[in-house]
Amino acid sequence: MRITHHRLIGLNTLMVIEMIKQKDLPIPENINLDKILDVLGRQQRDNRKRFKNYLGAPDLVMDVYIEMPFGMDDKYEFCGHSLSAFQHFIIPQNGKYRGYNWDYDDSLAVLEELGDILMTMFSTDVKYDPTVEEYGFSPEIMVKSPMSLLIDRLGGNVDLDDFEFPTAAEVGGYYGDVVAKDKNHSIITRIKAAGFSLHFVMDACCAHHVMGYLLNGHSEWEAHLESNWRSRFDNPKDQKQLNKKFEIIAKEISDYLMENQELSKLKSVKEVIESNAEFTNKWLKTNNNREMAMRGKINRHETKKICNRAIASCIVSLNLMF
Ligand SMILES: [Zn+2]
Repeated sequence: MRITHHRLIGLNTLMVIEMIKQKDLPIPENINLDKILDVLGRQQRDNRKRFKNYLGAPDLVMDVYIEMPFGMDDKYEFCGHSLSAFQHFIIPQNGKYRGYNWDYDDSLAVLEELGDILMTMFSTDVKYDPTVEEYGFSPEIMVKSPMSLLIDRLGGNVDLDDFEFPTAAEVGGYYGDVVAKDKNHSIITRIKAAGFSLHFVMDACCAHHVMGYLLNGHSEWEAHLESNWRSRFDNPKDQKQLNKKFEIIAKEISDYLMENQELSKLKSVKEVIESNAEFTNKWLKTNNNREMAMRGKINRHETKKICNRAIASCIVSLNLMF
């Protein structure tokens, strides 16, 4: 199985936290790393494993589907992407944020027209299933999620053609609150929700999730980001060499957090995700990052900027959640 950038960056975040503690590197004073390590740290193998699994979970889950006529199978996909994946976008627009809407997605080109035709034919009955097992959450939690509330509000019969999905900040922020605000949930539920939530924190650092583009280099860009990031570790021979790399990265993250203190002052995971969308939007406007992203490319230097931001904002989010 290919490790996704979410899992990679999420687990690297925990290594960085451990290294910051070990080397006693400076971080903003309101961040308490011990309480994160108490739940997800080195001694917590089971917790860490669950956390890791849920960092990758949302793309696998089929919760939104189109009810097809004539006894055909229910349809979960559009252009090979599950409809659930459409909840992972956050597009800054006129000082606000909007979620994915394929009418605005110029990466689709001819597919958009094709999609419109398909959707007009089939898609007036969009369903949301809050009991999907892969989530691992109780239906009570799922039923309160932004997608469920939206479909409820629209009355179940939804025309996907002009449907605007909840933003990554609304969805990730919801799961951040499940962890942060309701300490009555079991520790397992909180760890799963934390992994889930960080997935959205990281997605807001991904070019295409902020441009609102499903195609044109989307998965290529993410794969390139991942392989550039891996190349930083340069096939370490042993734990000692690996730790050396993590020491360098931990130093960079410590500097980043100290230089960007406003990040650690954010009050909720939703705010962290929105601030990541602003960061990425600004990043897209510098150098030729946008043009490169449309071709599915990113160089090593820019990879470092994106991944360092992702790790720093994951640390801030974990601090808010635990
Ligand atoms: Zn993506």
